Amino acid sequence: MGYNTKGDKMKLSVIGLGYVGLIQAAGMAKLGYDVIGLDIDKKKVSDINKKLPPIYEKGLKELLDEIVPKKFTATTDMKKAIMESDVTFISVGTPSKKEGSMSMHQLEAVVKQIGVFLKKKKYHVFVVKSTVIPGTCENIVVKELEAKSKKKFGKDFSVVMNPEFLKEGDAIDDFFKPDRIILGSSDKKGLEKIKEVYAWFKCPIVESGFKEAEMIKYASNAFLATKISFINEIGNISKRMGIDANMVSKGIGFDKRINHYFLRSGIGFGGSCFPKDVNAIVYKATEIGYTPRLLRSVLDVNRDQPIRLLELLEQRGPVKGKKIGLLGLTFKAGTDDIRESPALQIVKELLMEEAELCLYDPEAMEKVKRFFPHLKYAKTGQELVNKSDVVLILTEWPQFRNLDYGDKQVIDGKNLFYDTTIKRPKNYEGVCW
Ligand code: NAD
Repeated sequence: MGYNTKGDKMKLSVIGLGYVGLIQAAGMAKLGYDVIGLDIDKKKVSDINKKLPPIYEKGLKELLDEIVPKKFTATTDMKKAIMESDVTFISVGTPSKKEGSMSMHQLEAVVKQIGVFLKKKKYHVFVVKSTVIPGTCENIVVKELEAKSKKKFGKDFSVVMNPEFLKEGDAIDDFFKPDRIILGSSDKKGLEKIKEVYAWFKCPIVESGFKEAEMIKYASNAFLATKISFINEIGNISKRMGIDANMVSKGIGFDKRINHYFLRSGIGFGGSCFPKDVNAIVYKATEIGYTPRLLRSVLDVNRDQPIRLLELLEQRGPVKGKKIGLLGLTFKAGTDDIRESPALQIVKELLMEEAELCLYDPEAMEKVKRFFPHLKYAKTGQELVNKSDVVLILTEWPQFRNLDYGDKQVIDGKNLFYDTTIKRPKNYEGVCW
């Protein structure tokens, strides 16, 4: 990789060092930029400065070892982050509120704080990476910054919407090899500056207005979520007809218009993005007088998908008192993220049925213990299998393929044995296959 000649002289800051911001900050530092990362979480900041990744992501430890503190340091000091940088990426969380709409409180808090320091600056570019409902950059970010700083958008500062598309588990790879970069703004100067910062990347850059860039992120996640609920619905029908849904996926995936991605049926999507983003766009559509029937169905199918696995379990006799091992607790493999994990929904349902549960995950045990401190946890996947009457596979961690399941009953909710060349356990059944 070579350095671009203009962009790498700019100094960058990243506000919000979560799953997105930390990768953005570390990736940009690896490309040669000087990066200051800011978070309100003091422990996270201190861990990063000690080169300790606060989240599990493949390759992150090695990356921090390489760039901290030479190219990347973390702080809780907003003044330093703004005054000592030219471009600031904002990647704070935008979680769901109870009714499904998007919570803006983290973003609003940050924008208000930034505005104070913007007063003292000649020119600064702000790049919104958080997923935000169309209209947010224009009506909240730009307006609040102007109000707090008394500076003029387009002259004294720029705002660009640059949604993030990384996948947890492959986040670093996705950072360096994005499929596309979306840059949305009504301000040409800001767009040009960010194109310099991103001059590194060889992928297509799509330039648009604010709202289009904001909507591209929702449309992208809504489409992928739809694909998952689609194949789960086909899987549910297939299972009832004695059809192997995996064969169906393979067969349709060779059509280039369909492709093989996101075509593995299972217990449904989770994580911090698909559920909250589809909910948020459904909520917004309804608010503006449109009934989003397709997207509501996507959520309905997904909500019930963990229940399909529990139905299979119940077909094997009463659950009460049965020793059930839950193998994998994160919403997908390769991350310690348990937000909206279908595995945790299954834990809650089984607790109501008074089953005897034992849990194991290679990366998320500490996080899960905070929610369920009184449950039993196995030290290894094999220990969990040995202690269980029935094993439920709830995350597709590849190492679970190598366990000795003996003649234990196994119900797979994550299509761990999709590749039919890998030997399946003797007593094995899939949620849709
Ligand atoms: P996260 O919750 O992991 O990280 C948010 C970070 O912001 C936390 O470290 C938090 O301490 C910090 N923060 C909160 N308030 C702050 C404040 N006032 N000042 C400074 N820091 C503050 O969230 P995430 O998963 O990284 O997601 C961030 C955004 O990116 C969201 O809008 C999300 O929808 C979007 N996104 C996430 C992913 C993903 O895979 N996680 C992918 C694409 C887009």
